[in-house]
Amino acid sequence: MEISLVKLLSQEGKTESHHVPLEISEVEIGGETYPILESLPVDLTLTHEGNYVLHITGGTKLKAELACARCLCPVEKEFLLSFDRKIDFNLSEEEREDLEEDSSFVDKDSLNVDALVRNELLVQWPIRVLCKDDCKGICSRCGANLNFQTCDCDTTVPDPRMAAIRDIFSKFKEV
Ligand SMILES: [Zn+2]
Ligand SMILES: [Zn+2]
Repeated sequence: MEISLVKLLSQEGKTESHHVPLEISEVEIGGETYPILESLPVDLTLTHEGNYVLHITGGTKLKAELACARCLCPVEKEFLLSFDRKIDFNLSEEEREDLEEDSSFVDKDSLNVDALVRNELLVQWPIRVLCKDDCKGICSRCGANLNFQTCDCDTTVPDPRMAAIRDIFSKFKEV
């Protein structure tokens, strides 16, 4: 959803309220695509503080489907997002980048609500989630989900990467 900023930026001190549905049904983060299961409409208050400085506040709540870091089962996670950003439209995109202000959700005269939400999601996105604290993961040999079944694999067989590290250590000892 794009919100036109033309009217707002032509009048100092003007405030607009918006209540818009989220239009994206999935979000791409770090090369992976995650479904958005449900979301509340996005509440936004836009204020032209003067001299082409726009203050964006508001928030939304949504639920996304992530994957357990150990067993890859789907995990639902709720995100409570709130926005509080200031955009100086006197600056060019390059100048904003120099200030390390991510403003990829605005262009000359419009605000992309979906991009704003994605931006905020990125900040809150967890490094990893587990389906439960004691998730047993999947067997590295046969791929069985060890939360639901057991397998007879001998997982004490040394990992080849570990063997390589041991080789390095034994070489050090020889020197
Ligand atoms: Zn799990
Ligand atoms: Zn196994």
